[in-house]
Amino acid sequence: MWRRVGAGWSVGDVDGRRVCNHCGTWVKTYAYRYYPPGDPSYERCVGFAWCSECRVYSGNMVQVPRRRALVDLLDGLDDRERERLLRREAELIGYLDRKC
Ligand SMILES: [Zn+2]
Repeated sequence: MWRRVGAGWSVGDVDGRRVCNHCGTWVKTYAYRYYPPGDPSYERCVGFAWCSECRVYSGNMVQVPRRRALVDLLDGLDDRERERLLRREAELIGYLDRKC
């Protein structure tokens, strides 16, 4: 089961890549746009970082420049499944972890 953590989880930096300070595994990240393109807040995205080994994750608002294209890992899902995952964070992280 995935657990959301805040300050209790720390991430380090090895050669410019983020690693979990607890187990040393590469930390995976994912961000998606929450606001539609016409919205002034378009660059404010929802971002997640997680460790596959420790099964912990954190979520934040992150700033992603408008011109940067984000990979949509929920692409293959139908609308209903997509909405369901976006409502249940822990399941979403589990899904994303299998995809990347
Ligand atoms: Zn870890």
